[in-house]
Amino acid sequence: MPCFEIISESENSSARSGILRTFHGNVETPFLMPVATKGAVKYVSHPDLKKFGIDCLISNAFINYLKPGLETIKKAGGLHKFISWDKSMFTDSGGFQLLSKNFVHHVNDKGVYFRNPFDKSVELITPEKAIQIQNSLGSDVAMCLDHLAPFGASRAEHIDALIRTIEWAQRCKSAHKNKNQLLFGITQGGTFLDLRKKAALAFDQMNFDGLAFGGLCIGEPASEMYKITSYSKKFVSKEKPIYLMGVGSPLEILELVSLGVDIFDSAYPTRMARHGKIFTHAGVLQIDRGTCKNSFASLDKNCECFVCKNHSRAYLHHLFKTHEQNGQMLLSYHNTFFMANLMKEIRLALKENRFEKYKKEFEKNYSNNLNNLNKR
Ligand SMILES: [Zn+2]
Repeated sequence: MPCFEIISESENSSARSGILRTFHGNVETPFLMPVATKGAVKYVSHPDLKKFGIDCLISNAFINYLKPGLETIKKAGGLHKFISWDKSMFTDSGGFQLLSKNFVHHVNDKGVYFRNPFDKSVELITPEKAIQIQNSLGSDVAMCLDHLAPFGASRAEHIDALIRTIEWAQRCKSAHKNKNQLLFGITQGGTFLDLRKKAALAFDQMNFDGLAFGGLCIGEPASEMYKITSYSKKFVSKEKPIYLMGVGSPLEILELVSLGVDIFDSAYPTRMARHGKIFTHAGVLQIDRGTCKNSFASLDKNCECFVCKNHSRAYLHHLFKTHEQNGQMLLSYHNTFFMANLMKEIRLALKENRFEKYKKEFEKNYSNNLNNLNKR
């Protein structure tokens, strides 16, 4: 049985709903994975994530490999058992860490020379090693090691990174031995259409279980990200699940779903919450603004989460302003619930063949009221 099945397709766009089948269960697409880099989503518990209907997380293989280390995780019976998460889980290979000078010493054809942030030692992670680590962790979906060129890199740098990424993907495929684990490739190519075409064709031919468009959402304008996604998709088999790494905001997700993206991951909802930026159906509310100080309304009158049912903007404003950690927790809870609910609504709208209408209405409400929300 293929790991991905398309259930419904939009008549007016490339949007689709489907099922990704993994060792730890089925995940309905499109879905957004909360980011549990070290095995935990910041300020939101696993039981709460499950309550929100979240069936898949993403953790970081390289970080878990460094701490607590493979020995501890193996003793626990794998990463799922170690963190007590019995639903699906992706692991990222660490390629994204290439954007951080703190993590990367240098890169050559052998692999990435990572700097251990805990003891500053330098270690070579080859494509084979990245796969062995993920095989041992036992995640449901492993990601190939890729060479991600930073935003603003020259065409020559992107060509180098792409050639290396394709070669590494072949090495990852040969090294992958875990039959209970799917393997996704990651394309590169920056914002150069010809490189993106080359990447999509090469990866499609390698026949991975799914394909991620990497190197996007790292500083380029959203319009570029949409253009690259829509263009790259043309060269990829329709039956492959498409994953856009590092996205994102409600409006970006809606647009990318309409372009045919099935899987997202982002730390954005919880990071926004920690900065007091709250998703609502009427746009982003800034909880630190004076308008919230004496407002006894909920964060979002259309949200059914525990926080919106029980707490006022005034209370959450007070917790935020006084740096009370419970405030961070409650705001992260709401933002994560809001995104999980958005994904549920998107899937339902797709199944009922009314996605474009849903998208238009959501965008209208989200954008129209944005300016009124935060007036003092
Ligand atoms: Zn809420």
